[in-house]
Amino acid sequence: MYKALDQWLEEHREEMVQDIMRLCRVRSVRGDSAPGMPYGEGPAKALEEALSMARDMGFCVKNYENYVGAVDCNDKETELLILAHLDVVPEGTGWTVTQPYEPKVVDGRLYARGAADDKGPAVAALYAMRALRELGVPLGRNVRLILGTDEECGSSDLKYYFARESAPRYSFSPDASYPVCNVEKGGFSASFYAQWEESAALPRIVYARGGHTSNVVPRDAEALVEGLSVQQAEQTARAFEEKTGAKFTLSAQQGGVHIAVLGEGAHASTPEKGNNAALALAEMLCALPLAPCEGLERLRSVTKIFPHGDGAGKAAGVAQSDEISGALTLNIGILEYGLTGLKGVIDSRVPVCANEDNMSKVLERRLMHEGISLSGTAMRAPHHTPADSPLVRTLLGAYEEVTGQKGYCYSMGGGTYVHNIEGGVAFGCAKGEVDNHMHGPDEFAVIEDMVEGARMFVRAIVRMCR
Ligand SMILES: [Zn+2]
Repeated sequence: MYKALDQWLEEHREEMVQDIMRLCRVRSVRGDSAPGMPYGEGPAKALEEALSMARDMGFCVKNYENYVGAVDCNDKETELLILAHLDVVPEGTGWTVTQPYEPKVVDGRLYARGAADDKGPAVAALYAMRALRELGVPLGRNVRLILGTDEECGSSDLKYYFARESAPRYSFSPDASYPVCNVEKGGFSASFYAQWEESAALPRIVYARGGHTSNVVPRDAEALVEGLSVQQAEQTARAFEEKTGAKFTLSAQQGGVHIAVLGEGAHASTPEKGNNAALALAEMLCALPLAPCEGLERLRSVTKIFPHGDGAGKAAGVAQSDEISGALTLNIGILEYGLTGLKGVIDSRVPVCANEDNMSKVLERRLMHEGISLSGTAMRAPHHTPADSPLVRTLLGAYEEVTGQKGYCYSMGGGTYVHNIEGGVAFGCAKGEVDNHMHGPDEFAVIEDMVEGARMFVRAIVRMCR
């Protein structure tokens, strides 16, 4: 039976590519809500295209007021939910292969915003369902494909859906990498701050700042130091360039020296892949021959608790890990220093073993000891589906059968569509070793991976819904 299904998918490869391209032509970036379009015109348009595509294939579809759409294989009880999304992040700049909404195939790769995240996988799932339908494979239970339109901005679309429908026993989302992601770390976020009386003694830091958003490792940072020359700062800058790997550029400005730092951006869940420019700058500033003042002391405390290069929260006293989810990560996404105060924002991804006692309480004590306050702490529960669940075993089996590679489960710091769905996992459609440039310029989907994905999905559906 699988041979026939695989063959059908192979014969419909080109049509599948055309359908992915059709969806990629729609700029489904979240916009202002309009009547009947909670996320604006783009996402609603992409949903309409996808649902009409499914309808033309003969499926029963349902539009949940343009929050999500649903495609059903049959009218029996739903056993399995496949969750994909049609919204995309903004196109940004730097595209070289094609324009972001003019999909183009080059060397077996389909380039377009959304090709890999997540329109390609959405269409692959739809084609798996279509193959089963056209070949008349009997299913005792239903599989429902959910096409969401707000995954990139907080998944409020699923909240709307699950306020109306219950979750079936099993669900997976083809919106990550193979093989199976069964653990998503929890999140811990907080701000810290300190205030003091302005000191007029020179040399002094007038301002220092780096980072714009909590979930990104700051790539750039800058500071102005009054009463110090470029020459006086030069040696320290070179020493910290060596120590941190960030690039320091000095220039004379307003009776002092302006310091620009270039590090490396990365997602907050993988701080080790970045180079935090804000923390590199803070450490360098503390090493300059500045006049003593309270502000400088507080900044020194920050560098002690959150030293550059420590993405695991070791110095902060919160480093921890467990077998199923791996190690905690900690990112300082924003750091701002002025004449009378400083402020920073923490984004930490925590393993299943983390709790209030070993996170916020430890941090609060540690910061308090150094004259810094912690505020706005929030903790998001981790997600964990046991590796021996029937769904996980089925997906791994399908993966091994189709790719010939050993299947395994992994944990990630980011959250997917199934974060709040019991028994849910992320499965495909990217291969870990390929960088699909998701969220960046020249995003692409490997066409062969989409076809392979569909082959895995037919196996998963048959085995779960038979
Ligand atoms: Zn996605």
